[in-house]
Amino acid sequence: MTGVYEGKRGLVLGVANKRSIAWAIAKRLADAGAELAFTYQGERIEKSVRDLAGSVSSPLVTECDVRSDEDVARVFREVGAAFDGGLDLLVHSVAFAAAEDLEGRFTDTPRDRFWMALDVSAYSLVSCARAAEPLMDARGGGSIVTMTYLGGERAVPHYNVMGVAKATLNASMRYLAWDLGQKNIRINAISAGPVRTLSARSIAGFPTMEAIVEERSPLHRHIDADDVGAAAAYLLSDDARNVTGTTLYVDSGYHAMGM
Ligand code: NAD
Repeated sequence: MTGVYEGKRGLVLGVANKRSIAWAIAKRLADAGAELAFTYQGERIEKSVRDLAGSVSSPLVTECDVRSDEDVARVFREVGAAFDGGLDLLVHSVAFAAAEDLEGRFTDTPRDRFWMALDVSAYSLVSCARAAEPLMDARGGGSIVTMTYLGGERAVPHYNVMGVAKATLNASMRYLAWDLGQKNIRINAISAGPVRTLSARSIAGFPTMEAIVEERSPLHRHIDADDVGAAAAYLLSDDARNVTGTTLYVDSGYHAMGM
């Protein structure tokens, strides 16, 4: 992939630490020449994100809580200022649900935490895509990638409200593809199998999810964050210029199975 992203500028949301899927994607893009801005959520992870961003000579690292319209507007203003008013790539790798809603019964999810999970994990794609649109339009087009999971299409025990959020994210991705296609902006999702990250640790039964993939997927093995990085690097590249509104499964083929 060397040089494929030379001259391309991207914004990456969702790096928390070196295990984050967003970081695996960022590394791939940076290694192939992309210039990348990063956001982080909260002081707790600021240093870790600044250190990682520094290792790829990022010109911009800024705070963003995607629940805040002000944060999202400011971030895209800063990105426009750092990148001469243009943006080619957007990586959306953000999700959150309360730990207590990722165990027990979905039926018991309270109203406030239901909407919070959808706000952070699905609406944020809509608000970020809207804010990215003029910057990508200024470049004659762009490409956006978001992260989803099979639990948005089928019931996966413990995934609960996050599955409902991913279903909303998947549908949002397709509607955004229709709207933004007019401006040559593509948007796709990657449906990843289980990867051990900070967020994954809060899902009760995560080791069971991994064990089932190993037992029942056609390839009988786990995926890692770098597999997702490779898939994202393809979807974000000009090689995928006629691919939009789709979901690419990086899950050792597990989604193809009936049992
Ligand atoms: P991660 O914990 O490294 O990344 C999640 C990110 O979301 C963190 O950087 C966190 O700061 C950010 N975030 C949470 N709330 C936020 C908010 N209000 N504002 C801004 N950022 C916020 O975990 P990950 O596994 O790399 O997750 C990245 C994406 O991949 C998520 O959408 C997740 O659902 C998806 N995914 C993960 C797996 C897996 O097994 N790890 C599988 C399929 C899909």
